[in-house]
Amino acid sequence: MPEGKIIKALSGFYYVLSGDETIQCRGRGVFRKQKVTPLVGDEVTFQAENDKEGYVLGLEERKNSLVRPPIANVDQAILVFSAVEPTFSTTLLDRFLVLVESHDIEPIICITKLDLLLEEQKKELDVFVSDYREIGYEVLLTSTLDENSVQMLLPYLKDKVTVVAGQSGVGKSSLLNVLDPSLSLKTDDISTSLGRGKHTTRHVELLSIGGGFVADTPGFSSLEFTELEAEELPYCFPEMVQVSEGCKFRGCLHVKEPKCAVKEAVENGEIPSYRYDHYLSFLDEIKQRKPRY
Ligand code: GDP
Ligand code: ZN
Repeated sequence: MPEGKIIKALSGFYYVLSGDETIQCRGRGVFRKQKVTPLVGDEVTFQAENDKEGYVLGLEERKNSLVRPPIANVDQAILVFSAVEPTFSTTLLDRFLVLVESHDIEPIICITKLDLLLEEQKKELDVFVSDYREIGYEVLLTSTLDENSVQMLLPYLKDKVTVVAGQSGVGKSSLLNVLDPSLSLKTDDISTSLGRGKHTTRHVELLSIGGGFVADTPGFSSLEFTELEAEELPYCFPEMVQVSEGCKFRGCLHVKEPKCAVKEAVENGEIPSYRYDHYLSFLDEIKQRKPRY
């Protein structure tokens, strides 16, 4: 039975890429029974009616899926942050990192607009860059004025499904346009892109770039920790996972517990204190969340 990947969903059709061909498929009643809706990114089996049309017959088990935007089997997320305009924020970066980690998605941090930084500001940014690299994250520094810096992203895309995430105006569309000039995605300045101007299209599509797939809709459009439990949060901080074996209590949440290796690591500077502060505030946020029924 032919297999393929759904690369676009629109008006009840699933566009299945199989080899070099894209087959326009309808779903079949089977999905209603199984209570699963095929998503962009799903690996499917299908039956071809002719070389252009067919039916999706079955879905392979998903590695993960996002709700907003609806997309399955995401391997990695490029978290785009601008060095300035809007200002770089580790609070927001850590929030994105937690969401990405909790979905088992590999993050790549991409800091844009390096050309707009003054020498002094660059030094301040470098401290954070080395902190995150120390944790083990890839951090790329880019500027659209230096296309080579953007091209550095290309090798990461190969054979992966990637979502690009980040606030409005940080330069997501600009990056994609450099990576694939044939896209000519609309870019605009911060004032207009904060509105609902740009991504009004309802469908999600995977674009072929760099030998992999990139979602054309920004990922993680909701930044709430709605699906995350308090016990899971420490696992979203790799540097805590590294030392937490030394905590006296199993299931230590690294807050008030005695003999906590994470708190020790914060005190002696191994773990940046701002990371730990963000951890505590996210933990509070999760604990105060009203139970969902
Ligand atoms: P998006 O909302 O994240 O897709 O951001 P855009 O790609 O639309 O970029 C927002 C604004 O930032 C546009 O005016 C871009 O021209 C500008 N911009 C994006 N990247 C860079 C960069 O590396 N350097 C400079 N100077 N401006 C940039
Ligand atoms: Zn602990």
